[in-house]
Amino acid sequence: MKRIAILGSTGSIGRSTLSVVESFPDRFQVVSLAAGRNVDLAFEQAQRWRPRVVSVAAESQAENLKIRLKSAGVNGIEVVHGAAGTVRVATNPEADFVVSAIVGVAGLEATYEAVRAGKTVGLANKECLVAAGELITAEARRQGKPLLPIDSEHNAVHQCLRGGRMDEVRRIWLTASGGPFLNTPVSKFADITVEQALNHPTWKMGNRITIDSATLMNKGFEVIEACRLFNLPPRQISVIVHPQSTIHSLVEFVDGSILAQLSVTDMRLPILYALTFPDRIPSDLNFSLSDLRHLDFSPPDMEKFPCLQLAYEAANLGGGKTIALNAADEVAVSAFLDGSIQFQDIPVVIEKVVSETPAGKLESIKEVLAVDDRARAGARERVAGFTEQSGSVAVRQQ
Ligand code: MG
Repeated sequence: MKRIAILGSTGSIGRSTLSVVESFPDRFQVVSLAAGRNVDLAFEQAQRWRPRVVSVAAESQAENLKIRLKSAGVNGIEVVHGAAGTVRVATNPEADFVVSAIVGVAGLEATYEAVRAGKTVGLANKECLVAAGELITAEARRQGKPLLPIDSEHNAVHQCLRGGRMDEVRRIWLTASGGPFLNTPVSKFADITVEQALNHPTWKMGNRITIDSATLMNKGFEVIEACRLFNLPPRQISVIVHPQSTIHSLVEFVDGSILAQLSVTDMRLPILYALTFPDRIPSDLNFSLSDLRHLDFSPPDMEKFPCLQLAYEAANLGGGKTIALNAADEVAVSAFLDGSIQFQDIPVVIEKVVSETPAGKLESIKEVLAVDDRARAGARERVAGFTEQSGSVAVRQQ
């Protein structure tokens, strides 16, 4: 029986993880949940899974949850809150495996503490590796515990890498769907609405990652994630646009052989792989190879999608640059979602903030979070500049 802690249980990956656990009740048990702000769902999950510890975002939400659990006759669940609460969930002595699925740097400290506590971590939170990959991977090596990628591309790479040694790898190919604007001319980018950007062609995901997929920044983050997870320089990580998202990624070996991983576009599969590694168990997540007609590939257009180029540049410089890249992107995406800036303003905000942030190597999570804070403030200033400059987006769009 594997005992699981989930950081981000009410989000998309968190819910998929619980669905996997539900399918294999004799293999997995939920021992702690970090739920965030959705108290209704946190209550439902606590009632259903009866974990030992549940964490929510704020103290008032924790009080609310305690009262609801009590009146439902559910006892014996410790309810905690805030950043300390998330760390408590992540380091729960009863947990063997921690699924890190909180979006953004909010999950960083708890993920690092889980690794430090000697847990095996399944990583769905890419910001952890983008902002603090050097620290997290070094700690995992020290602990002698694997970091198992749940991000579908890296999960595919992890599987393909079992076909050879690291010194036999020529390069990793990360596939990209290309997002909803793959065939939209740049001249039409000013007309892109939030609704269009949220309409991803192949994957159903949270809002931020969906916008990041539309700008290709998500792929940029994945390049950085791959560098850190597999200990390779950016020049050995290539991106290839593959609109069907059937091949989740590939590994090219020095002899010219390329191994690919194909499966359904369902996050339950990478989650199941991580939870059962190094074993594989039968599931009903079947892929119908005979229905497959064609696989298309093309190189990404870095001029049309400058976010990918910005990510490669940040990956080459490392340290503070990748922290700023992530922080500025998070601020710029939320500004786009609330109508403060336009789609094509997103890379402009990011470029400015990254260029103002020194590369420098970071020695602790505290230092990482300080750089992150400064980059966010810089990004907010930049966003405000856009709004002032143009009056309002509504006026600009007329
Ligand atoms: Mg991915």
